[in-house]
Amino acid sequence: MKKPVVIYIAGYGRSGSSALSRALAQDETVLSAGELGRLPNFIRNDHPCACGKPVSECFVWRNARTGTINDTMEAVIHANFPIVVDSSKTAYFDFHRPLLYRMNGYRVIMVHLKRPLSGVLNSISKGTNKDLEAGIKRRRALNRTRAVLGYSFAHGAAVANRLIFRDFIRVEHTDMTQDLSKVVHSILSLAENAATREPQDQILNRSTHGMHEIAGNRLLRDDGRV
Ligand SMILES: [Zn+2]
Repeated sequence: MKKPVVIYIAGYGRSGSSALSRALAQDETVLSAGELGRLPNFIRNDHPCACGKPVSECFVWRNARTGTINDTMEAVIHANFPIVVDSSKTAYFDFHRPLLYRMNGYRVIMVHLKRPLSGVLNSISKGTNKDLEAGIKRRRALNRTRAVLGYSFAHGAAVANRLIFRDFIRVEHTDMTQDLSKVVHSILSLAENAATREPQDQILNRSTHGMHEIAGNRLLRDDGRV
C-alpha cells in the first residue's frame, strides 16, 4: 500500500482540532489519530487509546513499536487507512513535526486552524474552574501568560509552514461552527488530490537529476548580475 497522506492540523490547542479530526474521520478512508507526537509516551506507558483499549491492544496502535514517524505510519498502513489526521498542532514540541513527515517522504496537507485568542483563553479559564474555586489566582495568571506565548508561537510556526507546503488550508474556528461539512469537504478534496499527484512528483524529482547547481542561479550569472 502507498504511503498515507497526512492531514496535519497546525495551530494551538483548544481551537476545535478534535472536533475537526473526528468530522474528517466520518469518511471511511480517514483515520483520526489524535496527537501523534505523544504516541511514543503512550506506547511506553501503555496508555488507553480513544477506542478505550490500551495501545498494546488497540486495532491500530498495537502494530506501533516506538512511535517514530515511520513506525507510526507503518501501523497506519497496516490498518489500511490511506489518509491520517495528526492533530499534534504546532506548539513548542511539535512545531517541526510537519517537516519530519515531509523529510520521510509523506505528502502533507497543512490545515492551519485558528480560533481568536479570546476564545482560547475563555476555554482555558473554564478548564481551570476547580482552581478558581480554590482561589488559586496566581496559577490562573500564569496559565494565561503561558497560553498567550504558546498561542503566538504556534500560529507563527503554522504561518511559516505556508512557505514550505503547497497544500495549505487556513480554517477559522467560525468556519467550522458555520459550515463544518464545507470545511471537511475542502480538506478531503485536497487530500484526495494529493494522493493522485504522486506520478507528477516523481517526474519533478527526476528532472532535478540533470542539474548540478552549486551555489548559484545560472540564469542570473549569465545575465552578468552575479
Ligand atoms: Zn484505538
